[in-house]
Amino acid sequence: MTTPPRELALERARSHRDDDLQDLFTLLRQPSISAQNIGVEECAVLEESLLRDAGLSVRRLDAPGHPVIYGEWLGAPGKPTVLFYGHYDVQPADPLELWHSDPFTPTIRDGRIYCRGVADNKAQHFSHIAAIRHWLKANGSLPCNVKIMLEGEEEVGSPHLDTIVTANKDILAADLVYTSDGPVTDDRYPEIEYGVRGLLYVEIEATGANRDLHSGHWGGVAPNPILALARLLNTMIDDENYVLIEDFYENVRVPTPGAQAALEKLPFDTAATIAGIGLTEMVPPADRSYAERIMFQPTLNIAGITGGYSGEGSKTVLPARASMKIDMRLVPDQTPDEIWEKISAHVDKHGKGITIKRLDGGMLPSFTPVEHPMGDIVRAAVERGFGTVPISVPSAGGSLPDSVWTQTLGLPSFLVPYGAPEQANHSPNESYRLERLYQGIETSIHLMDLLGQG
Ligand SMILES: [Zn+2]
Repeated sequence: MTTPPRELALERARSHRDDDLQDLFTLLRQPSISAQNIGVEECAVLEESLLRDAGLSVRRLDAPGHPVIYGEWLGAPGKPTVLFYGHYDVQPADPLELWHSDPFTPTIRDGRIYCRGVADNKAQHFSHIAAIRHWLKANGSLPCNVKIMLEGEEEVGSPHLDTIVTANKDILAADLVYTSDGPVTDDRYPEIEYGVRGLLYVEIEATGANRDLHSGHWGGVAPNPILALARLLNTMIDDENYVLIEDFYENVRVPTPGAQAALEKLPFDTAATIAGIGLTEMVPPADRSYAERIMFQPTLNIAGITGGYSGEGSKTVLPARASMKIDMRLVPDQTPDEIWEKISAHVDKHGKGITIKRLDGGMLPSFTPVEHPMGDIVRAAVERGFGTVPISVPSAGGSLPDSVWTQTLGLPSFLVPYGAPEQANHSPNESYRLERLYQGIETSIHLMDLLGQG
């Protein structure tokens, strides 16, 4: 009896784990910080050689900004085509003093790889590359058609992704888009996410006098810009965390029955989740579940506020300016453009001496129906790869440029995080569990196998 190609691929993956680890380490050692333009081109070159070595034909897509790497294998006519998406850029590593090992020297401790970018997103998209490589080296051909696109600007909000996808619609045509990024919500279950929240990021600045002032000479005379920001915030969000910006909720979509049913089946333990971040309760409103908040509700979050003196000891200063940054997570059918109009009108109306500016373009929310037929294949692959029935999460809490797939390309898009909740994306000591690296590779092997049978 002949061994099925899938088994040959899995056997090869299991017997080449050290090779995979070394290749991943090479990728990890190369910093690729898009925000600071550090090492991005060098990392793109490494990705190209990895894809080539896996057996794909590789090129760069014509793109403004950091390189977009594209690889394909299209030798299975009549079979479905999967488009894998990933990003090779990473967040800055600061604050460096909080790392227990060098952020760009991959280090294994307690079954985890510690390195900036390992979870977000290098180990995750590497899992697809390794799966393709093992299958091709074991069998000579793939069971379905495969495309992979790796972006170098995800951590700065993917400013060119929509332009690139729009310009390369034919090249990127597929039957589904499959992205592994972010952590699962509950470590006990693998997870499939069918959408993401959108994002709008703004900076608000208040100014007072033409210079910082002596608070004894000028206090009670000149305006305090920090106070102006506090007063503005008070008009933007109430004690129940309801956003007061006019018509902010106007386009929030009522969840579909399928999405609502999936949400009700989620086995999340809210108390344990909250305890994990050192809290005993959620902020108001009390009648809204954890999952509902993360998936179906928009937020207005104050990400940072700066102004005046906050150094050691005291300085009696009346500052001339203060600023704050606000991120808003958006849900279908809100759009960054629409919310920008609404928040800037609000600031114009309520903030005397206050200006607002939009930082980058933001991201649209995105949505694939839980009931989409490709979902059955994805769920089966994940169950085989992780050995556990996955949960269906109608929407992730975070933001990814997923709408380029669902809206620009019109494809179903599945977000299948291979990472664990405690992997500390964007934080010091980002890490990735070795076990999840191997489970991810096997899941991607099963996905190609099941697509080939479909
Ligand atoms: Zn990230």
